[in-house]
Amino acid sequence: MKSLQDKVAIVTGASRGIGKAIAMRLALEGAKVILTATSQTGADKTAEEIKENGGDAIARVLNLNEAEAISEFISSVHKEFGRIDILVNNAGITRDNLLLRMSTEQWQEVIDVNLSGVYHAIRAAAKPMMRQRSGKIINITSIVGQIGNAGQVNYSAAKAGIIGMSKSVAKELAPRNVQVNCVAPGFIETDMTKDLPEDVKTDLFAAIPAGRMGVAEDVAYAVAFLARDESGYITGQVINVDGGMVM
Ligand code: NAP
Repeated sequence: MKSLQDKVAIVTGASRGIGKAIAMRLALEGAKVILTATSQTGADKTAEEIKENGGDAIARVLNLNEAEAISEFISSVHKEFGRIDILVNNAGITRDNLLLRMSTEQWQEVIDVNLSGVYHAIRAAAKPMMRQRSGKIINITSIVGQIGNAGQVNYSAAKAGIIGMSKSVAKELAPRNVQVNCVAPGFIETDMTKDLPEDVKTDLFAAIPAGRMGVAEDVAYAVAFLARDESGYITGQVINVDGGMVM
């Protein structure tokens, strides 16, 4: 029997990058994965790949800056599949700028998608999870939420917010056997980091004890561990997947 057999898992932002690797990993471990992207085509592509690899996936459109759409989406999954075992809040965006040049729109957009979006998803999934007396909520934060990064005031505030929020929710839901944890990636090769200038990359590598960027699968394995029943006594934690950058 596979470790996540018969589990119903939601993964947001799974059209590419880390979310795609997480959706694939959970499906390979036996979960039925409901994955989202901002376009049906993007979500379909990952779902097809999962099916080609023998997994079970359903593709849905979800934009995380629409509070109502998020709760409607979560309750539609619950209605359709009867339970929600795993929620992975992965989708995220960057709108980088230095503090004095940052527009209110850049600030708000990142807070809306990366922090409020996660809040609305957690709030909607908590009810069914509490009722079924089990559940795993895994939030993808970032080392930038722990150590900051020039040019990412909005992003680091949202990612630090996710960590604080996760710890509070972990305390509220622990008595109902629902675990809430974060995974904090360092620098992972995806669309989000592909445009980093070479000199920035060189400086970065010097700060990474492992001496390389991570790959999306590195993050997916940590998420899969937290999604398994065996992690039932771990809650309110942040697991760094960063090649040793923050220790
Ligand atoms: P990515 O390659 O840019 O992919 C982002 C995903 O989020 C896509 O599936 C995208 O869907 C979705 N998305 C974007 N805007 C959205 C919105 N408004 N509503 C719903 N979904 C939306 O990013 P990634 O590098 O894989 O990052 C995944 C997560 O890891 C993010 O939370 C990010 O902050 C975090 N992280 C990444 C790194 C890194 O080095 N890459 C490091 C630390 C943390 P579409 O394809 O439809 O746009």
